[in-house]
Amino acid sequence: MHEIKLAKWVLEVDMEQTREFYSKDFEICDCLNCTNFLESIKILDASVAAVFKNLGIDPIKPGHLSDFSAMDEGMHEYMGSYNFVGKVLEGELCNKENWNDSNTVQLKNFTIGFSDDLEFLPDDFPQPVVQLEFVALMPWTQVEIK
Ligand SMILES: [Zn+2]
Repeated sequence: MHEIKLAKWVLEVDMEQTREFYSKDFEICDCLNCTNFLESIKILDASVAAVFKNLGIDPIKPGHLSDFSAMDEGMHEYMGSYNFVGKVLEGELCNKENWNDSNTVQLKNFTIGFSDDLEFLPDDFPQPVVQLEFVALMPWTQVEIK
């Protein structure tokens, strides 16, 4: 475990164990909405990519992903989460009912926060666990077949 400062938080992270978890095969939904997210996430702003890298998370493998709706100008809003091995040492936690400017941070098209309200966690995930919650606005890159 080592300590990192990330935006408003001080976290203790175990990159090795988290990376090992993400190196496994994930069952990934192949619907159009999820496929679009997984394509769009390959082109991330450096500030967002750095968050995933520093935590050891592979962004193409979300623990949970849901699609809200199509927004203006071909953008799609998503909500989801990732898990990593670590602890929040300093900084506010968020949860689904309490999501605001003080317990989240916006980095380009991603708004993220950390939660200890664990959901969709695989049984074999190493302890201790933190959940990264996000809302993201992603470009729509898929060709819709009607
Ligand atoms: Zn899907």
